[in-house]
Amino acid sequence: MPACHKCRGIVSKVYDCDHTGYQSYCRECYEDLHYELTEI
Ligand SMILES: [Zn+2]
Ligand SMILES: [Zn+2]
Repeated sequence: MPACHKCRGIVSKVYDCDHTGYQSYCRECYEDLHYELTEI
């Protein structure tokens, strides 16, 4: 099972994109990151 790069949580599905340097994040951390990125 993959682990989240940020919270080190073990999750069944991880997300990554260029914003995260293609590190794997759990849904919660990924959404937090993108919320910050899209916040103006
Ligand atoms: Zn996480
Ligand atoms: Zn992104």
